[in-house]
Amino acid sequence: PATSMEELVSLCKRRGFIFQSSEIYGGLQGFYDYGPLGVELKNNIKNAWWRSNVYERDDMEGLDASIIMHRLALRHSGHEATFNDPMVDNKKTNKRYRLDHLIKDQKADVLAKVAEGVGEAPENIAAVSARLMENPARAAELLVAAGVRDAHSGEVGEWTEPRPFNMMFKTTVGPVSDEDSYAYLRPETAQGIFINFKNVVDSTSRRLPFGIAQIGKAFRNEITPRNFVFRVREMEQMEIEFFCAPGTDEEWHEHWLEQRLSWWEAQGVPREKIKVEDVPGDDLAHYSKRTYDLMYDFPTLGHDEIEGIANRTDFDLGSHTKGQAELGLTAQVMDNSDSVAKLTIPHPETNKPVVPFVIEPSAGVDRAMLAVLSEAFTKETLENGNERIVLKLKPHLAPIKVAVIPLARNKPELVELARRIKADLQKLGLGRILLEDSGNIGKAYRRHDEVGTPFCVTVDFDTVGLGENLDAALKDTVTIRNRDTLEQERVAIADLAGWLVERLR
Ligand code: ATP
Repeated sequence: PATSMEELVSLCKRRGFIFQSSEIYGGLQGFYDYGPLGVELKNNIKNAWWRSNVYERDDMEGLDASIIMHRLALRHSGHEATFNDPMVDNKKTNKRYRLDHLIKDQKADVLAKVAEGVGEAPENIAAVSARLMENPARAAELLVAAGVRDAHSGEVGEWTEPRPFNMMFKTTVGPVSDEDSYAYLRPETAQGIFINFKNVVDSTSRRLPFGIAQIGKAFRNEITPRNFVFRVREMEQMEIEFFCAPGTDEEWHEHWLEQRLSWWEAQGVPREKIKVEDVPGDDLAHYSKRTYDLMYDFPTLGHDEIEGIANRTDFDLGSHTKGQAELGLTAQVMDNSDSVAKLTIPHPETNKPVVPFVIEPSAGVDRAMLAVLSEAFTKETLENGNERIVLKLKPHLAPIKVAVIPLARNKPELVELARRIKADLQKLGLGRILLEDSGNIGKAYRRHDEVGTPFCVTVDFDTVGLGENLDAALKDTVTIRNRDTLEQERVAIADLAGWLVERLR
């Protein structure tokens, strides 16, 4: 695995996985562009998730809802009022910080003073931050008294009172911009699922329990985007809202925890590298009865969240439904006289209409990329003493499945045959097959090691029966080089497709 975030950042830029967005204009903080290989890896991760959660199950439907959403949807979801992060400014440097990030980054003795000041344990940053927000005036004094330093200047700051900052991006819709023409970019894909609950149930005749899965962009105006694509302002999420009868929710919660850990394992992110955190009561989001955070051990950052699996009770459908009063909701919801839909479904036993409970496994695609890249990253010393970097990606995730290499770029017979082999392999639907005719085979192997191409297929003089010292037995065969073992095997062109399908599918 990678030992530092830096080596990942460097590989991503060098080989075309991830670039800073709008780089030639100075960059836009918290936004990234996925390059030629990044887009492949990202698509492969999303496809693996979709396959496992939609196609391989019998209790799931898919959805692709719009990114820009009605402001009432995000009012009733609770986001307008509560989707806030605590923000604090240093009056000396005019730098802004997310309060919990600021205190987390302090030296242990400073952090201990702040924590003691609010009567919380220093390990529990979320609780310390929440206590500070309860009394902003005292918080400002405490930050100064504890000697909290500015991350940029390194000096003790002069801190303002912390205040909530709403992270939703707003935009105007239509040519007239007035009080009512604004809408939000969704801060999570989940809300698109809840507000389509009735559409999906009516069109598919689903009964409990079942889920709706969605992959898509979500936007959060993070106060301090940082750590490469770990915390960005435009991200992609893979979310499931799994609807079940109240009372069966805890069992389904355990089911999904197990499912998700096993999925991560299949992507090359082993269980030992993921700490499951049972989020303590004080830190739970207002809608959650219980949440498991999957904390992956990122290089440099240490354990941080790649996925949250929340029991959201009947909060969401209860918030978006009409006729709340007669539904016996367990969650505390805001009055809703705007919705025109009743979001109930027959209870599997009594057949009476019920607002189902929801289990939500929510994973970030960008963080998944980081975790997968980090686990695959390998530095090896070869027998000849040379060092090589190799991405040992699972074959189904590799951005390029096979590179087809003509041994000499100036021999039309070799290049022509390589081109034909490439075109034939491409038809197998395995993913991207690349014609690699850059000329230098040693360099090509090195590059494909670094981007995780599982197999390189080389067309040489023996293959086409050209030149001196020919081995006639090798006519119409190619060499396949294995990324991980470095072994080379001679395979007949006629058998190539079958050989590769067996190993790549
Ligand atoms: P954090 O505490 O790190 O801000 P969160 O708890 O707010 O994250 P959730 O609302 O649970 O995150 O979002 C679900 C998933 O979406 C996260 O597990 C993460 O993988 C991803 N995610 C959330 N915010 C970001 C972001 N700013 N950049 C990249 N991925 C994100």
